[in-house]
Amino acid sequence: MDSARRAEYLQAIGIDLWVPRALPTGTAGHPTAAAAGSAPAPDAAGAWEALRAEVLQCTRCALHAGRTQGVFGVGNPRSEWMVIGEAPGAEEDRRGEPFVGRAGQLLDAMLRAIGLSRAQNVYIANVLKSRPPNNRDPRPEEVAACLPYLRRQIELVRPRLLLAVGRIAAQNLLATEESLSRLRGRVHRFGELNTPLVVTYHPAYLLRNPADKRKAWEDLKFARSVFRQLTAESEDGHRP
Ligand code: URA
Repeated sequence: MDSARRAEYLQAIGIDLWVPRALPTGTAGHPTAAAAGSAPAPDAAGAWEALRAEVLQCTRCALHAGRTQGVFGVGNPRSEWMVIGEAPGAEEDRRGEPFVGRAGQLLDAMLRAIGLSRAQNVYIANVLKSRPPNNRDPRPEEVAACLPYLRRQIELVRPRLLLAVGRIAAQNLLATEESLSRLRGRVHRFGELNTPLVVTYHPAYLLRNPADKRKAWEDLKFARSVFRQLTAESEDGHRP
């Protein structure tokens, strides 16, 4: 991505660049991600279908009673990046896709600024697949019921890097009560595959607190540098 285009994306996020500087070129997304195509490998396709069907029919927690539909996940299932949010909101519940409301538009702009798009090289899912009433925080029993679905999605995608957006996603994935500000700027690990995980602000928070968009941009650059390092470290191009 050239610097003019990145500046355009940063402006879309709401970050003004007062001093035009040469920004590093290149995208965060590994070029092979798009080239590899987005169709799951044939043996994985069945696993994805089975998992999706299970999520859409799930009644493991009380939230199923109030939802329009389960919200599974979206994006390229062969991505090297995976973004994890909290839970569907009203618009997501209506449309059956994560991050399609105002926060989703901002998330898309943030991802574009580092060369990622749900149409090409990132997979997006939430901790909860059903909308909590009035967008309240997920309850521990709801997270416990739903997290196995996300774990399975992560196993199927096998991303190089997880980006947790927001305190709720980060705390639940990392099983910690540490504040978001303490979780930012570090590489954590998730799950049995020890997948590297980086934390940033939730786009809905950024809509309410635009002054923190600059810190979110720092997080995205940090995530991109971690990703590049991971890619460089893998000598033969295979995932760890
Ligand atoms: N917020 C989230 O965390 N996830 C969505 O899908 C939408 C809003």
